[in-house]
Amino acid sequence: MIATQYQEVGTKSKGQLLFIGLSSYYVTMGSYIGLYSIVALGLVLLTGVAGLTSFGQAAFMGVAAYTTAILTVNYDWSPWLTLFVALGLTIAVAFILGAITLRMGGHYLPLATIAWGISLYFLFGTIPALGGSTGIADVSALQLFGVELRDEKIFYYIIWCVCLVVLRVSTNLLDSREGRAIRALKGGVSMVEAFGASGLRLKNIVFIYSAVLACLAGWLYAHMMRFVNPSPFGLGQGIEFLFMIVIGGPFSLWGAIAGSTVITLLKTVLQGVLPKLISQTGNFEIIVFGIMIVVVLQWMRGGIWSLVERLLPPKPNKPINDVSGLPQRSQPARGEALLRVDSVTKAFGGLLAVKKMSFELSAGEIVGLIGPNGAGKSTMFNLISGELPRTEGNIYIGSENVSGMRPPQIARRGLSRTFQHVRLIPGMTALENVMIGTYLRTSDGIFSAGMRLNQAHEAQVRAEAARQLRRVGLEDSMFVLAGNLSLGKQRIVEIARALCADPVLLLLDEPAAGLRHLEKQELARLLSDLRGEGLSVLIVEHDMDFLMNLVDRIVVMEFGEKLAEGLPAEIRSNPAVLEAYLGGV
Ligand code: ADP
Ligand code: MG
Repeated sequence: MIATQYQEVGTKSKGQLLFIGLSSYYVTMGSYIGLYSIVALGLVLLTGVAGLTSFGQAAFMGVAAYTTAILTVNYDWSPWLTLFVALGLTIAVAFILGAITLRMGGHYLPLATIAWGISLYFLFGTIPALGGSTGIADVSALQLFGVELRDEKIFYYIIWCVCLVVLRVSTNLLDSREGRAIRALKGGVSMVEAFGASGLRLKNIVFIYSAVLACLAGWLYAHMMRFVNPSPFGLGQGIEFLFMIVIGGPFSLWGAIAGSTVITLLKTVLQGVLPKLISQTGNFEIIVFGIMIVVVLQWMRGGIWSLVERLLPPKPNKPINDVSGLPQRSQPARGEALLRVDSVTKAFGGLLAVKKMSFELSAGEIVGLIGPNGAGKSTMFNLISGELPRTEGNIYIGSENVSGMRPPQIARRGLSRTFQHVRLIPGMTALENVMIGTYLRTSDGIFSAGMRLNQAHEAQVRAEAARQLRRVGLEDSMFVLAGNLSLGKQRIVEIARALCADPVLLLLDEPAAGLRHLEKQELARLLSDLRGEGLSVLIVEHDMDFLMNLVDRIVVMEFGEKLAEGLPAEIRSNPAVLEAYLGGV
């Protein structure tokens, strides 16, 4: 397309050609880079950040371009009005595709977007009302205050303004309540769900957001070119958008702009050079892109932008203002029944990982759950938190039967947890990871995030996360990436995150594993302080010395069943427990 633009200019007289040809050539190229960047920004969020793949972004562009072309040419609508129709259509299609495929996870979304891209391309090419393969010409020009915007330079500025606004809004979005949860999606949904977010909803949000950006680009494209035909909206272009973010850098929004710049420029150069070199016509640039992708994926996962980032000065840490004001739960009265596990069974196929387990926990108690490896302790935790559906039995929080509820619903009832296998986002700072814990304590959506209307709440969330990190003794590591912390510290960060949820009941799965002696003492002190404040804790731990001085009662499991229950001293001298443990060791 850029090449055609160049040829058109080539008909001008020779003197003009050099100047105008060069400048309008670059202006058009710059506009393309801006348009592609808008689409690629959405794709960075979708693929790089949330870990979902779409081949259908070009098709979403096509929906918008054709919508506005048909409505302005055939029905004489104002282009500004068609933008809303295009957005509505895009959101509807993305919603339906997402609703069908995102629930199933895995490769269904990429496959569905491929099918969507291909079928739309054929639809555009074959339906006579859509202009067939020749397309639709004379699309209306955009009008602003009665002035027709036909100049390509003006379009260049419009496109880049939109692109920078999109960049800004997307940055704001990532740095918000929903954005942090979206950034956590790549590691699976179970962590964010344990803090009250719905993984499916978050995935739908990013998918629709990325489709909306593609729609915006398609609408701009139609009014810039004033002509649409099927070829720019095919599967090939959809794949090229993925190339852009992989090569530019899928984990950073700037990577989208870097990628669309590099790919667009390189494509133009290669399309000029390669056919001459090989003395044959064809899209040989694809081969070069293919090789680049392999090289980048092998040696430079962060793409070109990761190289640029190394040269940039480090970003200063945002200050933490000591503001409070997040809503706080009232703890139930000490001694009130808080958790009741009633004859709960969990079967994995033929294996009964938990068999008719029953125990209770009262408010203000710390109960230890012990047993040899494979006894079913973590499974029991996952049943209580709702991550696994139980096979039989009932679980009550307070007087409410919560069996059958999903983790977000149980989190709302005041349960907060850590995981045996740490689930932090390695690329986020300890502070940001801990902020995820407050998900249910504010309610800012993506709109207020994008517009930065969430700043008062954000300050409260940051302050709360900092407070909890200080409390667990990790103040110094606040701005360290979680992936760079020792495993012991990562476990403690998880505890701070769980505390940020302002829980009534805390579930800790082997929190002291990997901690040094002094760190364990610190942790024990913290947990008894928390008990002093009325918090209740259920803790799985192997270190008996650690447990004996801390917990009020111990429940022992073996082969999925309850082996014993009692005070620490009783358990220590229980022959059946000693047998299980010594036998187990
Ligand atoms: P613990 O935490 O006490 O070491 P787990 O609860 O992790 O034990 O595991 C209990 C038993 O259930 C083990 O035999 C384990 O292999 C099995 N198990 C745990 N999770 C699953 C699963 N998702 N699918 C099948 N078997 C599982
Ligand atoms: Mg376990």
